[in-house]
Amino acid sequence: MVSDVLVCYAFAVIKYQFCPKCGGGLKPKNASLLVCGVCSYHFYQNSKPTAKALIIEDGKILLGIRAVDPFKGHWNIPGGFLEYGEDPKDCAKREAQEETGLEVQIGELLGIFTDFYGVEKNATINIAYMASRISGEVKPGDELVELGWFSPDNLPNTLASECNAKMLEAWKRL
Ligand SMILES: [Zn+2]
Repeated sequence: MVSDVLVCYAFAVIKYQFCPKCGGGLKPKNASLLVCGVCSYHFYQNSKPTAKALIIEDGKILLGIRAVDPFKGHWNIPGGFLEYGEDPKDCAKREAQEETGLEVQIGELLGIFTDFYGVEKNATINIAYMASRISGEVKPGDELVELGWFSPDNLPNTLASECNAKMLEAWKRL
């Protein structure tokens, strides 16, 4: 919705008051740009990238219940934020290993999905890959309380951020 997008842009431009380079005051120039009044540094507020792994086995997908906020207690597709300069496929593989205990093979790109994450509604762009187990046994990582396999017609209702629902819908349409 347009109004949601505008609210989120507003969050982005008011969230930072001081220039990260010189400490001068920042002024919003437009919906996604803050400019330093002292050194003119352009501080862009763009979407943060994440990568997710849809790990499929025997027609079922592996989901985990988050142990921490945001979305504590909600089911989530394994994934997380990219590190600086990281290939999204490497991120999906790394996060899958951390969260599920499985070494996975990253397959085809399922799609790219926008979302707004957490209490501050930070804009994200979420890159979803199909994945399959190479080795390992399913064991929840520190950020999860439980993992489970779900068939497409029996998915949990309580999902973490909205991109999970969008990705699961896209998976069901394959
Ligand atoms: Zn500055």
